[in-house]
Amino acid sequence: MHKSLLSYQSGATSPTIFSGEFADDVEWGDENWPELEFRSPEDEAWYAVEVSDICDALMISFNGFSYEHDEFYPADDFTTSDEIQEFEERFRACSEQMQDVECPKVHEGTKVCATCPSVTGEVKFYDAIVVTVERMKHERDEEGNEVCGCDFKLFWKQGPYINQVTTAKVGDICLRAEDNRMNPKVVSFLKEARRKLHGEPCNQGEETEWQKILEKVNSAIRNNLSVDG
Ligand SMILES: [Zn+2]
Repeated sequence: MHKSLLSYQSGATSPTIFSGEFADDVEWGDENWPELEFRSPEDEAWYAVEVSDICDALMISFNGFSYEHDEFYPADDFTTSDEIQEFEERFRACSEQMQDVECPKVHEGTKVCATCPSVTGEVKFYDAIVVTVERMKHERDEEGNEVCGCDFKLFWKQGPYINQVTTAKVGDICLRAEDNRMNPKVVSFLKEARRKLHGEPCNQGEETEWQKILEKVNSAIRNNLSVDG
């Protein structure tokens, strides 16, 4: 049984979560796991997120957004293996903002996650591939830092410009993470979801007499609790 507690601290923008773990067979070391990014089913854009496990569900909190935007995925909500697989593919190590000095390592064929020109002014990240770099001599700013002014032509694999080419600057581009280890919380959640889908015997047919009695007992207990306050 996995229990968890949710407590809201006054003034905090997101709830502090104390939660149990999904499975006991995952090593939880002190290792620094790569931060996560998640492709939201709502707009199919990538977001930096934190994950927590709560009562056999995965809660996804979007960095920089308040908890009203949190998404909640119960492990038993998946009806096919393909759905679980598709959900798994929504996670990966977080891409990082490209630095001006990293310009030389970006070239034709580099996979990036970038912001695309938006009519609404929203900053959303989607996957793209660099098709050409129109290189310009890097200048220096007042503090002596290298400034990249090159034009990166991106071919979009996702998002509103899918299959089109647009021009981006260094500030629009995030480089894909090299550390591709999956966060252990996501790994155990997926394991739990697969177990629920395949491992537990399906309850086919009618409820048993005993289950009906149990339900009545539970409901009586609940009612009793609410009466007592
Ligand atoms: Zn450059």
